[in-house]
Amino acid sequence: MEVPKNITRIIQTYFVIAYLVLAFGWWSVLLYTKNEDAFLAKKELLMIVKVAEGEISGPEEIEAMPEYIALKKEYNTQEWMIGGEILVLIVILSIGLIMIQKSYNKEIEAANQRRNFLLSITHELKSPIASIRLVLDTIKKRVLKPEQKAKLVAGGLTETERLHQLVNNLLLSARLDAVYEPNREMVDLSQVLEEQTETLERKHPHAQIRLDLQEDIPLMMGDRIGITSVLVNLLENAIKYAGGPPNILIVLRWEKQQILLDIADQGIGISDKEKKKIFNKFYRVGSEDTRRTKGTGLGLYIVKQVVQGHQGTIRVKDNIPKGTVFSITFPAKQRKTANGTTVFGTAME
Ligand code: ADP
Repeated sequence: MEVPKNITRIIQTYFVIAYLVLAFGWWSVLLYTKNEDAFLAKKELLMIVKVAEGEISGPEEIEAMPEYIALKKEYNTQEWMIGGEILVLIVILSIGLIMIQKSYNKEIEAANQRRNFLLSITHELKSPIASIRLVLDTIKKRVLKPEQKAKLVAGGLTETERLHQLVNNLLLSARLDAVYEPNREMVDLSQVLEEQTETLERKHPHAQIRLDLQEDIPLMMGDRIGITSVLVNLLENAIKYAGGPPNILIVLRWEKQQILLDIADQGIGISDKEKKKIFNKFYRVGSEDTRRTKGTGLGLYIVKQVVQGHQGTIRVKDNIPKGTVFSITFPAKQRKTANGTTVFGTAME
């Protein structure tokens, strides 16, 4: 794990800073005393000269002499300058320390997230493979009634679908890490939503999913695989984090050169603090030990990158009375196709 290496680096940095503080503190004290020594020596010399020249009769009269006043002023100014330098150094060092601490915290968080990701991905890959193997083994070794066989096969297919989605997410996130160039195809958002809803309803018969699609939604110019992945991830999350029987509303609208998509659930909701982090790669709410849901923390990262790759925006807000709403907008503009018909597509030039 990377943390011990980071800790060594941090300790080294703190050591250098502590050395700098001590060295600078020592030099400052030295400068102060030397400045004072020089002032006292100059004062002494001035007194001797003035007494010898007969301008003053005793040392106590020196403080009224203009030369002494100038000397004292110079001494005071130098004292302020030294003090000022020390203050600036303290401020700069403090800012440096805060910045180091912040980046250290970030690194720790990133290391934890990578650890969580590795743990979860291992589990996510192993468990469907084990289930599929068991299904095939059972079919091979035992004589089953047709309905028993059908049930087993259905279970195996669900697991295969899970693996397929996981691999899709992994591949897509690798594509997003490099330069993401969305394919440019005509995508019918309404149709993709209807298809995905059907698949979900089959997979989760207890889920209640309502579709509210405006009729004349324009076709969208975009990356079919990416867009489908956005919808699948958001819908699967709405089911996964339902906290009870899932209740989902999907609204698709078209207005003012924009396509608007809302996916609202009545699930467990997301706190305001977490809302800022959930789109980060590998981020999952809670820790691996306390979480009960499966996942990799890649879903919403993919969603945001794909939406932004299509010049769209995504926002997350609380649903009323409970749950979460993910709102996506895609810019859309009118364009003529080769055969002269007008279609609408996102502005992806
Ligand atoms: P994963 O689902 O694999 O953990 P995601 O990137 O899809 O990763 O989501 C990140 C986190 O955001 C999840 O761990 C979950 O806590 C939270 N989250 C996502 N969608 C929802 C939702 N609809 N309701 C409540 N929490 C959600």
